[in-house]
Amino acid sequence: MMSGRFSHNCANCEDKINRLVDGNCTAQERNLLLGEVKGCPRCFDQYEKVKNLKIFVHDKYPKKSASPNILNSIRDGISNIR
Ligand SMILES: [Zn+2]
Repeated sequence: MMSGRFSHNCANCEDKINRLVDGNCTAQERNLLLGEVKGCPRCFDQYEKVKNLKIFVHDKYPKKSASPNILNSIRDGISNIR
């Protein structure tokens, strides 16, 4: 387990997770972000969830981009299952 070498803030990580999932970063940044996310079980779990959600939405609505409403209702559905 990693411990206190660098300050990790799960709240800050949310933005990083979104950037990772959206691919909104360079390969170098990606490695860095992924390293941090993997260092925290909570954030890694969150990352997996967001990533799967994105894949799921993409499969369901390949043609048109999903509206925030659809995303939210799927998100609600997932938290109900879990
Ligand atoms: Zn975290």
